[in-house]
Amino acid sequence: MDLRLPAVHVPLKMLPGVAALRQISGHDEQAIIDTDSITAINLLDRLLVDTHLGGIKPGQAVNLPTAERDFLLAQVYIDNFGDRIASNHDCVHCGARYEISFSLSELVTRVDSERLKKIKELVEFSESKIAAGADVAIPHFLLKNGVALRVPTGREELQLLKTDPDQAEAVLLACCINTEASADHDSGKAITASQPEILQAMEALAPLLELDMDSRCPECEGEQQVHFAIQGYLLNTLLVCKSRLLQEIHALASTYHWSLDDILALPRHQRLALFEHIEDS
Ligand SMILES: [Zn+2]
Repeated sequence: MDLRLPAVHVPLKMLPGVAALRQISGHDEQAIIDTDSITAINLLDRLLVDTHLGGIKPGQAVNLPTAERDFLLAQVYIDNFGDRIASNHDCVHCGARYEISFSLSELVTRVDSERLKKIKELVEFSESKIAAGADVAIPHFLLKNGVALRVPTGREELQLLKTDPDQAEAVLLACCINTEASADHDSGKAITASQPEILQAMEALAPLLELDMDSRCPECEGEQQVHFAIQGYLLNTLLVCKSRLLQEIHALASTYHWSLDDILALPRHQRLALFEHIEDS
């Protein structure tokens, strides 16, 4: 049995270089226990393959900007489940259930081009630097309003989980704003941005694939917003896959007499194709 898992090379959007991501196996599905950021970081670390093309390596997912991590999670979804996102929602007006579907790659392109537009609009100067305690160079920006900041990474996100929610924004800004660089202007240009403005700029420069979308019920034409977040969507999809795993293992083990380890090491696509073949025969 060929157990090599093919990897796809993806150019990173915010950092230089590429990420090589291999396909999901049953071992990876078994490791999904939640839909939180720690699980997402661990999943990426499992799927990242060391590449000589420059970029990020296994173990570095926590140091990625949260926005770059979302772009990679979208790529994982596309590589393993396809481009189409489809979810069912109950109409808040008439209770009818209806489906919303869209192309994930189109969403990624739209969010990323909006990000690039915001960089032109807001940023005076940018460079990639390694933040203290990290091993990945991430974007640092000097904004036109005089604020020097870097984009948040998984490290800050995990730190914020342990922080009082009322303090979270202040803690995030303390981590990401370079006060010295912001204040140190030979031109004497003062910082004019308020805290909410800085947070808004940070969000625009490092957008998550998380949004509220307008939708219309086909039954009553009523409108409502539906929430989409790639992290929760991908991890929920994998939790569903995990719940069917036992049945698939049982069918493959009974038919081919392969070991549990061999079955779990198969790429998901291949395991599923074999399972469907057994079911049909
Ligand atoms: Zn309705």
